Amino acid sequence: MPSIQFLKGVGPKKAELFSRLGIGTLDDLLFYFPRKWEDRRLPGRKEPLPFLEDSPVVRGKIRSVRDLYTGSGLRIFKVVLETPYGEAEASFFKRHSPRFDVFATLRKDLREGRTVWVTGTPEDPLFLSRLRADEYYGDDDARALKMHVGRIVPVYPLTEGLTARFMREAAYEAVLAGHEAVADFLPPELVLRRGLAARDLAARGIHFPENNFELEQARRRFIYEELLLLTLAWAIKKRQTRGVTKGFSYEVKKTLLTPFRDNLGFALTGAQAHAINEIFADMQGPTPMARLLEGDVGSGKTVVALSAMLLAAENGGQSAFAAPTEILAEQHFLTFERFLRGLGVRVALLTGRVKAAEKKKILADLAAGKIDILLGTHAVMGEGVKFGNLRLVVIDEQHRFGVRQRAALRAKGDRADMLIMTATPIPRTLFLALYGDLDLSVIKEMPPGRRPVKTAEATEDVALQAAADEVAKGRQVYVVYPVIEETAEADLKSVKSEFERLRAFFRGRRVDMLHGRMPGELKKKVMEDFAAGRTDVLVATQVIEVGIDVPNATLMVINNAERYGLASLHQLRGRVGRGRWDSRCLLVPHARSGDASERLRAMVQTANGFELSEKDIYIRGAGEILGVRQHGDMDFKLADMSRDKDILELAIADRERLLAEDPDLVKPENARLRLKLRDLYAARWNLIDLS
Ligand code: ADP
Ligand code: MG
Repeated sequence: MPSIQFLKGVGPKKAELFSRLGIGTLDDLLFYFPRKWEDRRLPGRKEPLPFLEDSPVVRGKIRSVRDLYTGSGLRIFKVVLETPYGEAEASFFKRHSPRFDVFATLRKDLREGRTVWVTGTPEDPLFLSRLRADEYYGDDDARALKMHVGRIVPVYPLTEGLTARFMREAAYEAVLAGHEAVADFLPPELVLRRGLAARDLAARGIHFPENNFELEQARRRFIYEELLLLTLAWAIKKRQTRGVTKGFSYEVKKTLLTPFRDNLGFALTGAQAHAINEIFADMQGPTPMARLLEGDVGSGKTVVALSAMLLAAENGGQSAFAAPTEILAEQHFLTFERFLRGLGVRVALLTGRVKAAEKKKILADLAAGKIDILLGTHAVMGEGVKFGNLRLVVIDEQHRFGVRQRAALRAKGDRADMLIMTATPIPRTLFLALYGDLDLSVIKEMPPGRRPVKTAEATEDVALQAAADEVAKGRQVYVVYPVIEETAEADLKSVKSEFERLRAFFRGRRVDMLHGRMPGELKKKVMEDFAAGRTDVLVATQVIEVGIDVPNATLMVINNAERYGLASLHQLRGRVGRGRWDSRCLLVPHARSGDASERLRAMVQTANGFELSEKDIYIRGAGEILGVRQHGDMDFKLADMSRDKDILELAIADRERLLAEDPDLVKPENARLRLKLRDLYAARWNLIDLS
């Protein structure tokens, strides 16, 4: 593959800049897709596309130029243009220099009578004909008309030292150069049936489309491609997982399960019992389990997971249980101790906070098989953690983990069973796209006696008064803020600054603070105090989003509620309504946007996570829900699984057909597809096993 240095205008220096963007070869550049597109066609030739940004551009004959000084040392070069639509004005700004004429080039290029194109931003959104100028080109500049103006132009993610203009020129050269990489890997039959653009045409159209149609087609083609590859990878992975035998078998002995149930102090709900049956059937089956357990906040997933871990323990197998935060891991530890009292099951807690000596002991015991359940944070996935006989991996609140972490933990056991849990329901198509290798169990029923949390919007004053009322009744309250400390950029309330204010407001009561940057010991103490009822009001960040279970807490106040996605709001709300009292969630917005209002309305209307997940707005925040963006797992160039749902559905249907006819993709027409899959998902992600 030719290096980027062979491109016109790219020397070693520029090549270094390109490498910062991950571009080393011409092919890399060709597949470095625009972030967006600007419509730089003249008025009258524009038709809107949702992802096409209108960009002010004027073409006209220069009538006059003026050079102005401002008091502040700034100079303005003002050009008045005559256009078919009237007069337009473009201003170039430069800092004055006493040593040379900063506008020498402009003065030379932009002479009266010459016809030019100028791009920029409108000085006033209402007067598009007054531009703060950016780029300009002569109307006789044939090259510029091919790539910079009078057309739809690509806008790329840049790095310091590479200008938008240079990048566009380089991309143009790359498109012209022609590549092997544009060869199609999709079976021709598929391309035809789905009316997809040919890959080489799409590769050109994605950078320099001649019109809207070409751009649409190019995007569609690449989005389809990305989604098809992903969904194929999952299907192959699923088949590969199912294709191995575990080499051990389980027997439901009930030596631990029965005393555990007696310990609980409540009966399992029908939905819990059903999920446990599905999980046990998998665990007793010949091939490793790979199952997702979905259940709303508070539906009782922990007990289900414990049952699975006890089945493993009854049969001499070890389990690993990973939780996303220290606070949650510690809370689980207490729960496990309570439910497993007297059973003789050995549970160890491993978090980043565990001291070296203790950790060493835990690791030794683990390897020697003296620990039945290792509970912890990401720490349980760490390099040095070796199990004697790991049979079951459980991942709680899985949206906080990435696909790679999931795989890392599982790899610690030889063909171990895996159960992953989430409180955020996912629509079916998304489930197939993201967890296509998993089976699904759903807990739709809540433990008896739960009363839905009443949700309302409120002002800050009303919310604080409500908090004071709850505290007076002996209940406890969470007050959540979006950030730990104030920052210059965003106008957000912060835990640290509001903490002092709330302390004054709740004088005579105990107010405490919790956020992720506090030392571990302190966090633990704060949580213990709150759980034991020694604290009345807990001022916190989103760290309390997952898992915290304090039945005496009856009010959740969420400040800057407009900042959170629906899934997070619902999780936060799930921290209350866990006891015998009526509970409330008060949403305090500090700003407004269309989307935010829609989210808050949805929260007020429904307390049910499954219903919430059907809302468009919930799905639009899919990245947040699915832990996709944070982990960069699905580094798609163009596809967005929530937006491109229709294309995703096509891809899933096509995958089914492809694999039904050719399960191992060995037919000649599928050979390239197989290679592509291998390059992408086997080589880079180690997700599937393809040779
Ligand atoms: P989540 O599904 O959100 O992880 P948890 O497992 O933390 O929910 O359960 C929430 C609370 O409900 C816990 O206090 C748990 O002990 C309790 N619980 C679980 N199952 C039942 C049940 N069948 N009946 C009554 N309470 C239950
Ligand atoms: Mg839970």
